[in-house]
Amino acid sequence: MTKTYKAVTYDVCEHNDLYEDMNEYFIDSPEKIDEKIRELAKQDVAPLVKLYELDTRNEFQLIDEYKFKDYDCGCLSKARP
Ligand SMILES: [Zn+2]
Repeated sequence: MTKTYKAVTYDVCEHNDLYEDMNEYFIDSPEKIDEKIRELAKQDVAPLVKLYELDTRNEFQLIDEYKFKDYDCGCLSKARP
């Protein structure tokens, strides 16, 4: 049985209370899923990507969260001299 995954990229800035979903991507294979998510994060410059899996009731369930420090907004480090 094929599983359907959905990855959602998020733009996050704790400093400005920003927590905004950007784009949704559907992934039809769990193969190299970590690699795919890393590519999506890079493409959208997203510090956070959430991964959902379509369950038997046709609802998306959150199964994992990936954080990418490289794409943090960086304003916390800018706030302190
Ligand atoms: Zn920020």
